[in-house]
Amino acid sequence: MFPNATNTFFRGRETALLTKHHKEQLIAPLLEPFLGIKVVQLDDYDTDKLGTFTRDVKRTGTQLETARKKARIGMELTGLKLGLANEGSFGVDPYTGFMPWNIEVIVLIDDIHDLEIVGVAQGSTKIVQEKVDNLEKARRLVADFGFPASQVIVRPDDGENPYFVKGVATWDQFEAAFHDCWRLSKQGLVFIESDFRAHANPARQNMIRLAAINLLLKLHSHCPNCHTPGYWVTETKPGLPCEYCGAPTAVFRAQIYRCPKCDFSKEVVRSDLQFADQGSCSLCNP
Ligand SMILES: [Zn+2]
Ligand SMILES: [Zn+2]
Repeated sequence: MFPNATNTFFRGRETALLTKHHKEQLIAPLLEPFLGIKVVQLDDYDTDKLGTFTRDVKRTGTQLETARKKARIGMELTGLKLGLANEGSFGVDPYTGFMPWNIEVIVLIDDIHDLEIVGVAQGSTKIVQEKVDNLEKARRLVADFGFPASQVIVRPDDGENPYFVKGVATWDQFEAAFHDCWRLSKQGLVFIESDFRAHANPARQNMIRLAAINLLLKLHSHCPNCHTPGYWVTETKPGLPCEYCGAPTAVFRAQIYRCPKCDFSKEVVRSDLQFADQGSCSLCNP
């Protein structure tokens, strides 16, 4: 029945996935074979009501809260006790604050086992967000961004203009959208920005796949005490010794695994590295 299933915990169950933008095509091929589940996609609920990237509908909760809400709606609409949902966010990287950054979460909620497990992936991404005053510049700008595989949204003047054209996916559509917004512009400018919706953004599609893989890894890690999946790292402990002088560094030495169900936890000393690079030692490399 499920020849590739490597986890029996959810095997044979149907899972609701509420998505308007065909995220099942990204998530189901990864989760279904290994978990032995069937993803039931629902597209008759408008997830844009919960917030859009075009800022016309503001998201009210956090990213995870919105994902939970979507999963719950899918479960209610199908009557299923297992639900999945994805929510993405775009901002700047947590290290320098300059790089465009994408975070994707996929939440799995299981009402039979009273369980919530969250897969997460994040990384730098490419975005476009610029005002241009002629079509040639606009064409070069979006070509650099990866258009038409990566789609764009076009507005008159600036990012605050309530009028916009989205779903711009071909050069003909782009030209038409440009002229359309040009005509409506008061400053002779057209604002072009990335379309962050999953089906319009291949870079985001990859990040959603990574979040699904992260969820799979967590679901394959079972608590040694109660065998519930989702036994995962919740904390890291610094102090890996410097390879040269042996002093503790900020590089992590151990991870704390914790069960989402019974709260069992255990410190696991890292096995991939015994010593930290001299470059990360504050004594050798102040
Ligand atoms: Zn446990
Ligand atoms: Zn050192």
